[in-house]
Amino acid sequence: MKKIRYKRVLIKISGESFVEKDNCQSRVDFKTLDDIAKKIKKIAGMGVEVAIVVGGGNFWRGKEAQEKGMDRSTADYAGMLATVINALALQNILEKNGLVVRTQSSILMPSVAEPYIQRRAIRHLEKGRVVIFAAGMGNPYVTTDTASALRAIDIFADAVLMAKNHVDGVYDSDPKENPTAKKFDTLSHFEALNKQLGVMDLTALTFCMENNVPIIVFNLQDGDNLKKIIEGENIGTIIETKK
Ligand code: UDP
Repeated sequence: MKKIRYKRVLIKISGESFVEKDNCQSRVDFKTLDDIAKKIKKIAGMGVEVAIVVGGGNFWRGKEAQEKGMDRSTADYAGMLATVINALALQNILEKNGLVVRTQSSILMPSVAEPYIQRRAIRHLEKGRVVIFAAGMGNPYVTTDTASALRAIDIFADAVLMAKNHVDGVYDSDPKENPTAKKFDTLSHFEALNKQLGVMDLTALTFCMENNVPIIVFNLQDGDNLKKIIEGENIGTIIETKK
């Protein structure tokens, strides 16, 4: 049996990943979600404890609504609610794949999700349940990247796995626009911060740096990447600071 590099992971799945490639009409594509669920099932079956933070960008982004005239705080709360819709969709598909799932929301919503309680989340993970964190941090002016960093720290995750949508790591410029863009295999947290490479929000990156949580940026859609990361293969870009 292969060794497991990360026993407890926090996977950040952005709202974009819920959408079928090149089809911006569908907000949630169930075939795409089912593919994601199967990849998660594979690593859960290896004994990995899986927590997930879902984004909401396929429905709503606070900043964009603000640019159209809405108050930022209200727009951000709407964005947090969007993440709850994604969480419920993902929860259901994971369950249909035979996993036991609990969703915890940072905004109280007892009819649809548990409240976020650190010890309870950890207990679920220890029992082999997948835990989905919805509604980000429950605060406006941040994004689900920050929630990923802070929840990962709070539940003692071994790594944050930043699942990117059809992008296989961190580049020095946008590979979709610049064909000569160079991919980084590894970076320290400080380098990623300094170079402002758009890996994740700077706030989130700072939290990971201060608490020495490794971040792996990878393409979730590509084959068995998730499983390979767990088994210790160097996939995507690894951001870590060696002591
Ligand atoms: N959001 C927020 N606080 C949080 C998490 C999210 O205000 O802790 C809002 C914010 O408006 C954000 C939206 O929810 O734009 C959707 O989250 P995000 O943009 O992180 O989703 P993603 O881009 O990962 O799909």
